[in-house]
Amino acid sequence: MTKEKIEQIRSEFPILTEQVYKKPLIYFDNAATTQKPKCVVEQINSAYYHLNANIHRGVHYLSQKATEAHEAARQTVAEFLGATKREEVIFTRGTTEAINLVAFSFGEAFCKTGDEIVISVLEHHSNIVPWQMLCERKGLKLRVIPMNEKGELELDEYAKLLNDKTKIVSVAHVSNVLGTVNPVKEIIRIAHEKNIPVLVDGAQAVPHIPVDVIDLDADFYVFSGHKIYGPTGIGALYGKEKWLNAIPPYQGGGEMIATVSFEKTTYNELPFKFEAGTPDYIGSTALATALNYVKSIGIEEIAAYEKELTEYATKRMLEIEGMRIIGTADEKSAVISFLVGKIHPYDIGMLLDKLGIAVRTGHHCAQPLIDSLSIPGTVRASFAFYNTKEEIDSFMEALKRVVMMLS
Ligand code: PLP
Repeated sequence: MTKEKIEQIRSEFPILTEQVYKKPLIYFDNAATTQKPKCVVEQINSAYYHLNANIHRGVHYLSQKATEAHEAARQTVAEFLGATKREEVIFTRGTTEAINLVAFSFGEAFCKTGDEIVISVLEHHSNIVPWQMLCERKGLKLRVIPMNEKGELELDEYAKLLNDKTKIVSVAHVSNVLGTVNPVKEIIRIAHEKNIPVLVDGAQAVPHIPVDVIDLDADFYVFSGHKIYGPTGIGALYGKEKWLNAIPPYQGGGEMIATVSFEKTTYNELPFKFEAGTPDYIGSTALATALNYVKSIGIEEIAAYEKELTEYATKRMLEIEGMRIIGTADEKSAVISFLVGKIHPYDIGMLLDKLGIAVRTGHHCAQPLIDSLSIPGTVRASFAFYNTKEEIDSFMEALKRVVMMLS
């Protein structure tokens, strides 16, 4: 990406000109949430000003307009993920709700005592706890794919975990701590050889690398809007029609029904069967705006630029004595976790904050992973396409100062 292009992109994100503690904000916490371009904020305003009416129910003009916009947003999400059927996209509150939906509904339909679920050691709590809840509810066992010292999943060990009792595999596409891009296509192929479906947690992948659910042959694929420049509180679950038809609804209420009597309720068709209650039609349209914005820049171009930023930052960070980068997979996304000497990550994060630099510290909602590494947590810098090499240089100056103060 050219300098001019990046400047133009940055001008579309007003928050990037904010000052914190009288210092220019350097926002390197993009894996937690991304900033929003003007077009997304304007879409939210515009939808409330011109399009607000409850959808699917009204015969009146506004309700029909809002319904059309919500369903068009579903089409946009489907296309962004490479899905061919709009009905295979369910709007959720985000990745967490999408995984809970599958863990509950798939568990109800297909799991019984003694069965097994396979996840990996580098999962976010959102892709651990819902499965543990299912295990507790129905007496299942959780099996965990190990990783090597670079933070890459061990596929030989993974294949050995799969057996007749394995009901589903659920893995992250990209680790939010290590940045590892997991070979999910291969993981899916191996599971499918044994007719086991796979859920992919795409929270950290969709904003950064091209995703095609058909090419991956994913059975379920989930992501959050707020991590891809969209609003909070909206995300999506892609599921193959055959699975979504085979599992029961997650929640009951309005919209998800075909008929209701006190004796019996029948359920609506896809996708409405999984969308009980008034959907976030404002959020869905703003999410579509965000996805179209990303598309207009080009996800391939974004991936290439963020790779450049990540490699540049990694190289520069290794200038610091005692620097330990946690996660050195060959395939890595725009996340760098690190520790310096014996300094506690929290102290580094606190002092960087005072210098205007937003990074994250701690276990990053992946406590089992952090425990497996026998470390107290990490400092995590995570990039987006609006970040620059100049920001990385400023970060480096600040980090050197902080390390000097704390050593
Ligand atoms: N999965 C991964 C890999 C994540 O990084 C996150 C958030 O950081 C989540 C799941 C949860 O996403 P959300 O809180 O938007 O539901």
